[in-house]
Amino acid sequence: MAENDNTFEGGCTCGAIRYRVESEPLFVHCCHCHWCQRETGASFALNALIEADRVTILQGEPVMVLTPSNSGKGQKIWRCPQCCIALWSNYAGASDSVHFVRVGTLDEAYRLPPDIHIFTASKQPWVVIPQGQTAVDRYYDRKKHWPAESLERLNH
Ligand SMILES: [Zn+2]
Ligand SMILES: [Zn+2]
Repeated sequence: MAENDNTFEGGCTCGAIRYRVESEPLFVHCCHCHWCQRETGASFALNALIEADRVTILQGEPVMVLTPSNSGKGQKIWRCPQCCIALWSNYAGASDSVHFVRVGTLDEAYRLPPDIHIFTASKQPWVVIPQGQTAVDRYYDRKKHWPAESLERLNH
C-alpha cells in the first residue's frame, strides 16, 4: 500500500520490477487503436501519462525494447527482463520525459479510470463507451482536453 493517497505502486508479473508513480498522472488515455489491441492482446490499452521523473523504480531494472509504432517513429517499451511484461512506453511524439504507464500494472489500477477514449474509430464494436466520457475518433489536441494544471506541469 502507498503511504500517500496520491502515489501508486506497481510492478511486473514475476515481481522482479517494482515501481512507484509519485503523483496523480497528467492524463489517462484509453486507446482503442489496432496497435494497442495487438500489443496488449486485448481490446484497448489504458495508459497513465506521467512525467518520467515522477516514476521511481523501487526494485529491478526494466529493459527497453524498441518497437514499431503507428507514427513510424517507434516507441520504447520498458519491460521486465525476466517476465517481459510491459510497464511503460515512451513515444516519439511525447519524448522520453513522459512515461505512458500501463495502468494494469499498478496494484490499484481501479484508481485511474480514463480521462479520454482515443482512436475510437477502430474500437471493437462490443466496447461501449460510457455516456459522458470524452471520446475522439483518432488523436486529440492536448490544449483542448488536458486540465490547465497538467498543461502547466508539462511546461516545467
Ligand atoms: Zn517480471
Ligand atoms: Zn493505441
